[in-house]
Amino acid sequence: METVILQPNKENLYKCAAHLKSGGLVAFPTETVYALGAVATNAAAVEKVFDVKKRSHDKPLIVAVAKKSDIATVARNIPDKARALIDAFMPGALTLLLDRAENIPDAVTAGGDTVAVRIPDNETAKTLIELTGAPVVVPSANISEKTSPTLASHVYDDLNGKISYILDGGASEIGIESTIIDTRCDPPEILRGGGVTADMIERVIGKVKFKRESVCGGNYMPLAEVFFSAYYDGMTQNICARYDELAKHGRKTAVICLDGNAAYYGERKLYRVGKSYSDYAHNLFAALRKADAEHVDAVIAEGVVSEGIGLSLINRLCKISRGNII
Ligand code: AMP
Ligand code: MG
Repeated sequence: METVILQPNKENLYKCAAHLKSGGLVAFPTETVYALGAVATNAAAVEKVFDVKKRSHDKPLIVAVAKKSDIATVARNIPDKARALIDAFMPGALTLLLDRAENIPDAVTAGGDTVAVRIPDNETAKTLIELTGAPVVVPSANISEKTSPTLASHVYDDLNGKISYILDGGASEIGIESTIIDTRCDPPEILRGGGVTADMIERVIGKVKFKRESVCGGNYMPLAEVFFSAYYDGMTQNICARYDELAKHGRKTAVICLDGNAAYYGERKLYRVGKSYSDYAHNLFAALRKADAEHVDAVIAEGVVSEGIGLSLINRLCKISRGNII
């Protein structure tokens, strides 16, 4: 099968929607990362997603709908706090865990009674889902365990020959995945940190907690070994020391750092991720991908202050580093 990268014009959006309707897969941009879509109510199409991604069946898929009123087509018993979050953050990088409706097949929920739902804040994604006229599963468009794609070319690198179409929407704006929250319990639980931060959520529905075991649970992994630094005074010196030790042992090493810290590392190999924590979140996966492409053996990621988007970065980097904190 030849994989074609398409511009998201009207004709191509119709073509891709028709492909989805007929049970095919289409990769498309969302504001978090690129998604590998299939019609969520079509069990055979969903099965192809697991095949193509080599994803284990115990990992449920997030379902995307185009607008708020469509949430009721995939979920039941929507709690008041969920409604408040829908009003505040949807469309956006927030996924709600809700009781599933009957039309959602077991493969989507890994056999569970809940469905995870979101509305992507991306015109191409929304139009495609709208034209398809059905909910669409939206796992990241990469082979499982590999880094999530934030460009159409990343998708092509992983899935060339396995899917027919990739809609090219340029770079994903946020670059890390959606926050997942379960509002069916009290206080609501954040299962995964992401684009919408705990602070933002608490301003709308009050206290939430982080589900502990989700913080460092394994998900996808870059090929390089990743070390994640804690944030403290003297962090950059400690990172330099660790870098030099790794390099002494013949490991090709790089540091993921903010622009403002680059000077502290002298001649060492760097992947600069920008000026702010939002930039860091936006560029993290691309940096990890570059490290893999350049056959870097070890990556040391700078620590961040644990507030706002920093918390989401910590959540994600704990996972990626398998809790390898320095
Ligand atoms: P990914 O597609 O890699 O972003 O992973 C989606 C993640 O969403 C899964 O690994 C789960 O942690 C979570 N998720 C999706 N659907 C459900 C569900 N029905 N119940 C619990 N967690 C879910
Ligand atoms: Mg993923």
